[in-house]
Amino acid sequence: MPGFEIFGEEEKQQIMEVLDTGVLFRYEFGAQRKGVYKVLEFEKKFAAYCGTSFGQAVTSGTAALKVALAALGVGPGDEVITQGFTFVATWEAILDIGAIPVFTEVDKTLNMDPLDLEKKITEKTRCIVPVHMLGAQARIREIVAIAKGHGIPVLEDTAQAAGGRIDGQHLGTFGACGTFSFDAVKTMTTGEGGMIITASEELWRTMSEYHDHGHDHVVNPGGRGGEGRRFIGSNYRMMELQGAIGIAQLAKLDSMIAAQKKTKAALKEAASAIPGVSFREIIDEAGDSATFFCFFLESREQCQRVNRVLTENKAGAINFGENTWHFYPRWEHMLAGATVARSGWPFCEPDGRRRVVYDPELLPVSAELINRTLVYPIPVKMAEERLEEMRTALSRAAQI
Ligand SMILES: *Cc1c(COP(=O)(O)O)cnc(C)c1O
Repeated sequence: MPGFEIFGEEEKQQIMEVLDTGVLFRYEFGAQRKGVYKVLEFEKKFAAYCGTSFGQAVTSGTAALKVALAALGVGPGDEVITQGFTFVATWEAILDIGAIPVFTEVDKTLNMDPLDLEKKITEKTRCIVPVHMLGAQARIREIVAIAKGHGIPVLEDTAQAAGGRIDGQHLGTFGACGTFSFDAVKTMTTGEGGMIITASEELWRTMSEYHDHGHDHVVNPGGRGGEGRRFIGSNYRMMELQGAIGIAQLAKLDSMIAAQKKTKAALKEAASAIPGVSFREIIDEAGDSATFFCFFLESREQCQRVNRVLTENKAGAINFGENTWHFYPRWEHMLAGATVARSGWPFCEPDGRRRVVYDPELLPVSAELINRTLVYPIPVKMAEERLEEMRTALSRAAQI
């Protein structure tokens, strides 16, 4: 799962190249930096790796979502559709830029159900944000086709699936743009950091300016600060040290995925013996980033029974029905409209009227499925003894 497991000489070497120049800022300092532009190099390499044209590095995966939504023109008065099984960051970003998140069910891919998406599109829908959760593909082709039919852009939240593909095409390149996170627990990590990729130069240019106070990054007579601004921006700049680590981690991404695939296959084989077990639908096994292994039991009750045995045998799995960060009915602060803003924004208008009220029972299909799902994060490195311990736990769970 996280790239910090394989931190090594490559990362150190990259960091030293930055420290040797003493320039931590990604722009300017032309004379001192001796041609070292790590963030720029990381953007180019990441976009090329994904088979697309432009990369925009930012401070986090959450910032990537915000910058992408802003560049797509989304704001107050708009609705953005995403799925009810995702990390809180996806809908935090939507609320932060002033739009209202609308949630869909997930299906057996554990990602956005395209049939439910159709039902939730309204005349206010300005963007669709499917998430490639837990390392595996959403039904992105169907989702993009539906969105095209309505003239709505698709932003793929690819935070958990860097390196994932469908028929060789990288996740994050199917829609208008794709966002990534390199936080401390993501497959490739820069400690904190994010990236947006796109094939559209115009969209990239807007993101580039927006993420840096409106600076246009074009050499101009006045130097940095001498240019005009097309619009108000903000600051989501990545620093050189993160870019340097990103370059080293990116070079290891495919080998991390290959290692995860082997471990995942071994666990799947062991779990197959559990009566009534079935597996998450993976659209393209070859393109799975194998960051997580998810399996379904027949009922919530069986799921709890199996997980009790797994836990007793030192191999307890995650049940996202109980985890409070990734599933709609567990987001008590969102359901309650809790915010630090005195006015109640973004859940209330400045005059105190509620803008949105979420029904905890909104997603019964997802709830039924998530409550009987068990999940193992897959490490990049797994000792043979640990794998054996997990296999034994799974075979004990198969005997109850
Ligand atoms: C991690 C994550 C994010 C946010 O990334 P940060 O870099 O932690 O801000 C967004 N969406 C999903 C699905 C994530 O898992």
